Amino acid sequence: MTDKRRWWLAVVAALMAAIFTYQSIGELGAIVLFVGSLAAFGGYRAYRSRNPGAAPAVRCLTCGETLASTARQCKYCGSAKWTVN
Ligand SMILES: [Zn+2]
Repeated sequence: MTDKRRWWLAVVAALMAAIFTYQSIGELGAIVLFVGSLAAFGGYRAYRSRNPGAAPAVRCLTCGETLASTARQCKYCGSAKWTVN
């Protein structure tokens, strides 16, 4: 699934959830929930961007070996030239 499609699914799901909560708990509750979900989403994004497992792969420019995203130089050939792809 592409990122764009996931984005649209999230928008539609959020809209449906917003309408449903607005009808069931009223305006103030909907606002509180909306702000809370925004904060949770922002926190999730921040967590993912800091999580090394979610980072894109890093490749050595000299030998082409895949490196850890936190690596400062290639552990196979010792080259400090690498690229993010
Ligand atoms: Zn290398």
